[in-house]
Amino acid sequence: MLTRRKFIQQSAIATLTAGIAPSLASTKEENIVMTVNGPIQPTQMKFTLTHEHILADFIGAEQYSKDRYNADEVFNTALPFLLEVKKLGCTTFIDCSPAYLGRDVQLFKRLSKASGLNIITNTGYYGAVNEKFLPKHVYTETSEQIAARWISEWKNGIDGTDIRPGFMKTSVDKAPLTPAQRKIIDAAAITHLATGLTIGVHTGNGDAANEQLEILKARNVAPSARIWIHAQSEPSETYYIETAKKGGWVSFDGVNPGTLQANLKYLQLMKKNNFLDLVLVSQDSGWYHVGEPKGGEYKNYNCIFTEFIPLLKQNGFTQSEIDKIFITNPAKAFEIKIRTL
Ligand SMILES: [Zn+2]
Repeated sequence: MLTRRKFIQQSAIATLTAGIAPSLASTKEENIVMTVNGPIQPTQMKFTLTHEHILADFIGAEQYSKDRYNADEVFNTALPFLLEVKKLGCTTFIDCSPAYLGRDVQLFKRLSKASGLNIITNTGYYGAVNEKFLPKHVYTETSEQIAARWISEWKNGIDGTDIRPGFMKTSVDKAPLTPAQRKIIDAAAITHLATGLTIGVHTGNGDAANEQLEILKARNVAPSARIWIHAQSEPSETYYIETAKKGGWVSFDGVNPGTLQANLKYLQLMKKNNFLDLVLVSQDSGWYHVGEPKGGEYKNYNCIFTEFIPLLKQNGFTQSEIDKIFITNPAKAFEIKIRTL
């Protein structure tokens, strides 16, 4: 039997817990970054490559299967490249292969443990390339139903594991977006409002990037929730400035030995317009090509370190500007945070 005093104490504790619980939940799930090994603080990301790949299979959603490759062979192929870039100064590696295209979260977790890199994976669907990589249920389900699948991956983990996504990876071709492509961007907006996951969109051109922002706007989602992936596919630089004026992330993610000058020009343009704080830079490099002998040609992740940063320095970029591009901006862009208009 409860004494009156104990009863009062217990009620007070119950009231206190009820009051505290929601705020604890939100601090746990917001203002963090989600890696394949669980949450970290945004400041722990340090030097980040925001768009790379470990594994890709271009067979298409209908025939996609993990039986098409040997995970140990991929592990052994990828690990030396990851160790090499870690040694050059990379701390966080963001894998942009979505579901049905090479997302193998258990493999990524093994590689993260073996390399010491933070690895971040994604939820979402890839609608570009004429929707070849979209599963059939995209055509029969509503955007709310598709979003529920992605939100479930955030809450419960991916593919029966407890490994959770750190952002959304979606994609569309050039404008105008197809109905299915519009649907996945709408699903991404719904998912963002429920989870705070940032929406990365592989995008065909500038008009397609703007069309996405209209879809997000209809759901009250801010442009800062979206990363315009492959901005360099749009030849007209006015689109980059227009997007940055709205607060949207512009990702120049094709740095390789053949594109150094072009990427220098993009960054000089953004710097001149005072938008260096909305730029992401990466290489879209890697990966083990499923279906090719021994994974085909695996391109290393070194160019930003060995060639591009020295070029930036030669052209007057300061260390603090370089830190902004590769440390501060990724931490802001990939922080779990709901961003509304
Ligand atoms: Zn890519």
